[in-house]
Amino acid sequence: MVTKGASHSTVVDGAWQARELPFGSNSVQHGTAVFEGIRMYATPTGPALFRLDEHLERLLDSAALLGIPHAYDLTSLRGHVRDAAAASGLDNAYVRPVLHTREPRLGVNLQDFQFTLGTEIWALPPDDTPPPAVRVTVSPWCRPSRLTFPVRAKATGTYVVSALARTRASADGFDDAIQLDPNSGRVAEATIANVFLVREGRLVTPWLEDSVLAGITRDTVLTLARDLGIETAEAPVEAGELPAADEMFLTGTASGLVPVAAVESHTYAAARPVTDALSRAYREAVLGGGTSRSSWLTPVPHPDSSTSYLRGVS
Ligand code: PMP
Repeated sequence: MVTKGASHSTVVDGAWQARELPFGSNSVQHGTAVFEGIRMYATPTGPALFRLDEHLERLLDSAALLGIPHAYDLTSLRGHVRDAAAASGLDNAYVRPVLHTREPRLGVNLQDFQFTLGTEIWALPPDDTPPPAVRVTVSPWCRPSRLTFPVRAKATGTYVVSALARTRASADGFDDAIQLDPNSGRVAEATIANVFLVREGRLVTPWLEDSVLAGITRDTVLTLARDLGIETAEAPVEAGELPAADEMFLTGTASGLVPVAAVESHTYAAARPVTDALSRAYREAVLGGGTSRSSWLTPVPHPDSSTSYLRGVS
């Protein structure tokens, strides 16, 4: 979905900068950066960023987990990202703030580098229809072990593992792959999304004891499910249990809720009452409808009204 839109703009540290990053940048050479993916939606009252603060808190946590030095706090990050979103002039977009270093030096001690925020924005089509169901395989490539990496951090370098699993799944004729926790052997998540199962009306997602990114969409869906009176559980999930589920879906900021049509050779029933109900609730929430919590949507100022505001950022 995101790849359909053209990359629109880059704002680094509040100022427009050359899009080019020095090729020798440590972030390019070693994948040393932490990032977020945030959706901007066209709502009836104008463009808004969905769960901006939760994403930025996770960005700060990711930086802390890796020991990345930087000069931002939640307030300054919020200002930078809203500025970048406003400056794009878009109202439907994927917004990616990245704490990276532009310094073209080698070395693996992150304390030696200065990290700055850059925000890349991809336009998304306005007719953003719900995604079609996907077919998934169980990948031979596990998620990083918690003994290898702080698995709660969203870091650029670890996406090589997601790329490995997705590339292999695609070559094998699947849309995505379920990755396991290497220590427990249980289901962790898909390559860039969390996993949900519905069993006898109960919603289950792998618990955070396994190698799972604590997805913001995962949290949104758990909250909406409770609001709808659906029983929820964060629990250990064995790969062998996947075909026994009545419904399965994936969650992530970029695509929202993605129904799973089949896992390996097992095909799920085409009727997905719980997935459909949650998809509707999610869509309402992101577009500012009925079940939306006002704190989940951060308005983005219109570019015409924000020119001086943009220039004021240091
Ligand atoms: N796991 C991984 C590895 C991801 O890249 C993503 C996408 N950010 C997710 C889960 C879902 O997280 P979120 O709902 O916060 O987008």
